[in-house]
Amino acid sequence: MQISILGCTGSIGTQTVDVCQQLGLTVTSLACHSQIDRLFEQIKLLKPGMVAVSQPQQAMRLRQRLETAGLDCRVLAGDEGVETVARDARAQMTVQAMVGMSGIKPVLAAIDSGHQIALANKEVLVAAGRLVLARARRQGVQILPVDSEHSAIWQCLRSGHRSELRRIIITASGGPFRGYTPARLQQVTLAQALQHPTWKMGGKITVDSATLMNKGLEVIEAARLFEVTAEQIAVVVHPQSIVHSLVEWQDGSVIAQLGTTDMRLPIQYALTYPDRQPSHRPALDLTQTAALSFEPVDTETFPALDLAREALRRGGLAPAVFNAANEVAVQAFMAGRLDFPGISRLVGRLLSEYRVLSPDEDLDLKRILDTDHHIRQQAKELLEWKD
Ligand code: NDP
Ligand code: MG
Repeated sequence: MQISILGCTGSIGTQTVDVCQQLGLTVTSLACHSQIDRLFEQIKLLKPGMVAVSQPQQAMRLRQRLETAGLDCRVLAGDEGVETVARDARAQMTVQAMVGMSGIKPVLAAIDSGHQIALANKEVLVAAGRLVLARARRQGVQILPVDSEHSAIWQCLRSGHRSELRRIIITASGGPFRGYTPARLQQVTLAQALQHPTWKMGGKITVDSATLMNKGLEVIEAARLFEVTAEQIAVVVHPQSIVHSLVEWQDGSVIAQLGTTDMRLPIQYALTYPDRQPSHRPALDLTQTAALSFEPVDTETFPALDLAREALRRGGLAPAVFNAANEVAVQAFMAGRLDFPGISRLVGRLLSEYRVLSPDEDLDLKRILDTDHHIRQQAKELLEWKD
């Protein structure tokens, strides 16, 4: 199988490269935003015929470097370049590992080209999940989850019939501020938020894990991928991150998926599905793991999860509003313009002000993009943040 990787220089992208190498899969094309040093090394290693860099000046610099090094590779620039990579006719699968809503057009381009999609880019599923899945159904392509919890649920669901499902149970590590009081959260810094206790990931998702916005995004992601309601999704804190999620059947039996905290495992499962291939990664040694513990989520201190549930219940573009407000709030927190509890406050305010006009408003790409843009503007106005 031939693969195209969008977001190749990030945390998921680089681990996808490792998995492709180990499985002997050919990578035909790559795309990133601006990290051309890393992309240059990947070009030397994988020899893709085509790459795209969305930041045009960086694309130009990369062309010069490749020429100097005598390496032959077509370099495309800008968002159109990234979409061209997504449509790469030589690939049968696209791994979408970009971060944020900028991944929407590329993922639709890949679906329209008939590629199977291994999807890490959860923001797209949250803001435009019904549209993406309807488009995939029409094209006869599968959306294969990469997110560890969703990969776990997907694996657990193979143990029964859908009509027998009672609910799914998503685990959360609780993030670096588990056990904090609201007053203590007021004081936390960006450096502390970036210290995730169990996973090493990109910056945005690490902050999302600290606010529990990540779990909120994952509840909506699960509702879209597995076509379940907010009421059928439970969340439980499991600080060891060994049980990646569970499925509860009607007879009360609960099936869990366990594994090390290594994203290469769910990435590999998406790339080899429905089969499994041997992996050379260290296996889970249960005798060396700490006791597994589970506790309820403190929704008073971390309101993000309830906000996500509210967005999901209201439907329409409310999840897109939730996502857009959060993307700006995280950027503002990372830029030192907003305190940590301000992230949930801003998302809550914009969500409460939004009126859903029609339950199917989230099936229209233009409305999704317009709403995303409008909410970003509104968030920036509230933050008095001028570009
Ligand atoms: P990173 O920030 O590490 O990587 C993001 C990647 O996207 C980089 O390659 C970046 O390029 C690229 N990118 C950003 N904007 C554009 C653009 N406009 N055009 C092309 N490429 C772009 O993020 P992660 O790998 O951590 O996360 C990726 C997605 O996967 C997120 O949605 C996240 O929620 C999800 N996810 C991540 C997990 C993890 O363990 N990291 C676990 C589960 C889900 P550049 O490097 O040049 O900036
Ligand atoms: Mg996850």
